[in-house]
Amino acid sequence: MKELIHPTEKGKEIFNLIERLYPITRSITGNGVRETLAIVSEHIPLVIHEVPSGTKILDWEVPLEWNITDAWIKNSKGEKIIDFKTLNLHVLNYSIPVHKKINLEELKEHLFTLPESPDWVPYRTSYHNKIWGFCMSHNQFKSLKDEEYEVMINATLEDGSLSYGEFYIKGELEDEVLITTHVCHPSLANDNLSGIAVSAFIADTLRKIKSKYSYRFLFIPATVGSIAWLSLNEDKIDKIKYGLILALLGDEGKFNYKKSRRDTAVIDKIVAHCLKTRNEAYGVLDFSPYGYDERQFCSPGYNLPVGRLSRSIHGEFPEYHTSADNLDFVKPEKLEESFEFLRSIFQTIEGNQTYLNLNPKGEPQLGRRGLFKKIGGHSTAKDFQMALLWILNLSDGENSLLDIAIKSKFDFELIRKAADSLIETNLLQEIV
Ligand code: ZN
Repeated sequence: MKELIHPTEKGKEIFNLIERLYPITRSITGNGVRETLAIVSEHIPLVIHEVPSGTKILDWEVPLEWNITDAWIKNSKGEKIIDFKTLNLHVLNYSIPVHKKINLEELKEHLFTLPESPDWVPYRTSYHNKIWGFCMSHNQFKSLKDEEYEVMINATLEDGSLSYGEFYIKGELEDEVLITTHVCHPSLANDNLSGIAVSAFIADTLRKIKSKYSYRFLFIPATVGSIAWLSLNEDKIDKIKYGLILALLGDEGKFNYKKSRRDTAVIDKIVAHCLKTRNEAYGVLDFSPYGYDERQFCSPGYNLPVGRLSRSIHGEFPEYHTSADNLDFVKPEKLEESFEFLRSIFQTIEGNQTYLNLNPKGEPQLGRRGLFKKIGGHSTAKDFQMALLWILNLSDGENSLLDIAIKSKFDFELIRKAADSLIETNLLQEIV
C-alpha cells in the first residue's frame, strides 16, 4: 500500500471555511459562485471553467447569468421590513429585477413562507420561470398591514457564463475517482457549504500522497453544472471507476449512503462495508432517479459507478432549505467525522487489490514465519490471525481484499495490514 493518509484535527478548519463562504450569495451562475471558487482555490489550485450562456449542453442550454446587488421591501413609512443585505435567502433566487409600489394583496402573490416552521425563512428558486419574489418568515407574513409597499430587486439576468471549478490529481493510473459537490446555494450551511468545505479538505489531503488512482474534484452548480461537465467531457467518462457525490456532511445525523444505479458497483460495496465496520448507526439507500447530481451521472446513457454520501437526507430534516440551515446547524466535530470517514473510503479504494496465495495446498506454517506474533494496529492478536487465515484461504485470484473484508466482517484496514504481512513473508503475490 502507498503512504497512509494521516489524520489531523480538521473539524475547526473545515468549519472556518464554511463560515467564510456562508454570507456569499450563490446561485447556479454569477459572481457568488466565482467568489466561492476563488476562496476554495486558496486551499487547492482549482481550474475555473466558464461555459457561455446559450451553450447547448446535452438536452439543456446554459442559462443567462444572474447577479444581484440589493433588494428590499419598504412599508408605507419607508422602513425596510425585508433586507436582502441581512439575509440573502430573502430574495427568490434568480428573481427578475423589479422596482414599484404595490398593495398588500399584490405583494402576497410574490411572497414565500413556511407555515409549518413560522420563524424560519425558506430558500426558494425560480431558474426557469421569469418571476420575482421574496421569502420571509410566516410570522412576519401574518403581521403585514394592509398598506402600500415599495419593492425593489436590483438584479441582472444577462448573457454571461456558468462557472465551475475542477481539480485533477494525477495518480499512477489513468483510472479516476470522481468527487463532486454542488456550489449553487446561497447562505445555507449544511446543504452546499459542508460538501464544498469537506471536498476541499479531502482534495488537499489526497494531493499530498502518491495515489494509485487519479482523482477529479468538481465544484459545480447542481444539475446544470453536472450536465455541462458531462456534455463537455465525453472523453473522460470511461476513466471514471468510482464516484461520490458529497452533500450534507455537517449535521448531527447518521451517515446515509445512496447506492449507484448499478447497485453493486465496487464503490457501493466499499462505502457499505466502511459504514458497517464503523459500528455506528447508518443507512444505505437504493438508487432512485431523484436527489442531487446522481440524477445526471447515473442517467442510463452514462450509468456511472457514482454514489452519494450525506449525513441527514435532503428534504427529510426540517431545517432543509430554510434559514435554520445556518452556522449553528453544522458542527465541527461532525465535519471532521465526515472527513475521516471519507479518508477511510479513499484508503480502501487505494488499498484494494487482488492477490494469489503462493502456498495454497494446506495452510502455510505461520508460526515459522513469525506471523503469529504480529499484531496490526488497534486490532487484537486473535483478529489479526483470523485475518491472515481469511486472506490465505480466499486469495485464489477470485477475491479482492475488499471481498475478503466483507466475507470476514473485518474492517478493511486490518485486512490490508494482514495482507502486507503475508506479502512480506512471500506468501502472497499481487495479481496484475
Ligand atoms: Zn439544496
